[in-house]
Amino acid sequence: MDSIFSNTKEAFSLKTNFQLHRAKFLFKIIENKFLVRLGTTFTNFSLKFRLPVTSLIKFSVFNHFCGGISEKDCEPVIFKMYKKNVHSVLDFSTEAFNSEEQFDDCYKKKISIINFIAFRSEIPFAVFKPTCLGRIDLFKKVSSNDQLSFLENEEWNRVVKRFQGVCQKAFENNIKILIDAEETFVQNAIDDLAFKMMLIYNKKTPIVYNTIQMYRWDRLDYMKDLLKTKGIVFGFKLVRGAYMEKEREYANLMNIKSPICLDKSSTDLNFDKGLDFIFNNIDKISLVCGSHNEHSTLKIMKKMSELGISKNDEKVWFGQLYGMSDNITFNLAKMGYNVFKILPFGPVRNLMPYLIRRAEENSSVKGQTGRELQLIITEINRRKQKNYK
Ligand SMILES: Cc1cc2nc3c(=O)[nH]c(=O)nc-3n(C[C@H](O)[C@H](O)[C@H](O)COP(=O)(O)OP(=O)(O)OC[C@H]3O[C@@H](n4cnc5c(N)ncnc54)[C@H](O)[C@@H]3O)c2cc1C
Repeated sequence: MDSIFSNTKEAFSLKTNFQLHRAKFLFKIIENKFLVRLGTTFTNFSLKFRLPVTSLIKFSVFNHFCGGISEKDCEPVIFKMYKKNVHSVLDFSTEAFNSEEQFDDCYKKKISIINFIAFRSEIPFAVFKPTCLGRIDLFKKVSSNDQLSFLENEEWNRVVKRFQGVCQKAFENNIKILIDAEETFVQNAIDDLAFKMMLIYNKKTPIVYNTIQMYRWDRLDYMKDLLKTKGIVFGFKLVRGAYMEKEREYANLMNIKSPICLDKSSTDLNFDKGLDFIFNNIDKISLVCGSHNEHSTLKIMKKMSELGISKNDEKVWFGQLYGMSDNITFNLAKMGYNVFKILPFGPVRNLMPYLIRRAEENSSVKGQTGRELQLIITEINRRKQKNYK
């Protein structure tokens, strides 16, 4: 496992011994599917019946994967990482929202975050999850081209207004904005909105970045189709995709072809093809690669070098989630590449779906947890040696 990303001294330079041991403990639990299921049930039960578990969650899994409860809470982490050339992207947790009042609050929050990050070079992007601005069933209806009632039409207009409001605010502050991708059944509506925003705001520089999930076998054609549009530049956040199991279950339930590639190697191949396509059109596309995969990261580094793109060219960014793959993030940063951590923050209760997804994803993705754990143990052992520096 020796690679340019195996320097654990660099990877964990910001972690105290205590934090490393906590990480080891967490990933040991996450490795075990049964314990993850048990922990999830226990946590959901405790939160539902308001048992006093938030301090325990905050002290353990929350502090490992999240920056804090407020933007201010996140500042120490943001500054520490920035000293190591690692940027932050603040991601306010919004997963459990489902009323108009909550969508409005979420919209206001996204606007206030853009105000917070304006003129901060430590935070190069803003980010939002589209269904935090409107009802998921409405996104679903619009995605399937279903007829909307008069009231639904009004409701959708409000969603569009919030969506454009966030992009407009980002544009006014010259902040690039990442639009997260979600389940396929809501994605057509998101893609249409993202494309409309690109037509308005990406005339000269990429302000709006849409996310492309390469575990979907149809996404390469989607990108090729988009590129036929002249007069704008594109921002793409390339990811593999986070909803594989849900997508497969949904396709089974609806008796439709699954939108997901048949297996992991087909997804990997598709991801590579996506990268090839982007670098073949790098004059028109700016890339954010959201991945913890070493092969994908190395492939981008190689492409950049072949095409003479400098390491810190604004056109290419790498992103990892806070609490994961520090070996990739901190070693990339040390080499001078543009790299950020997604730093989730918000009330513990709101962040639970995110944390549970991290745990489930890690226990279902073969190899990821093992990799994290191995690196943590290597660093713990390195520090045990006498006179370590
Ligand atoms: C900065 C950042 C932003 C992100 N934003 C989004 C987002 O907006 N929307 C979103 O959906 N996800 C997002 N993700 C999550 C991402 O899609 C992946 O789930 C996660 O990063 C794991 O993929 P990987 O490339 O890091 O690593 P790997 O470990 O190499 O790949 C794991 C991924 O491969 C795919 N996969 C695994 N097994 C199979 C299989 N049997 N068949 C087919 N495919 C398989 C799945 O997508 C799985 O998540 C983001 C991740 C990061 C780091």
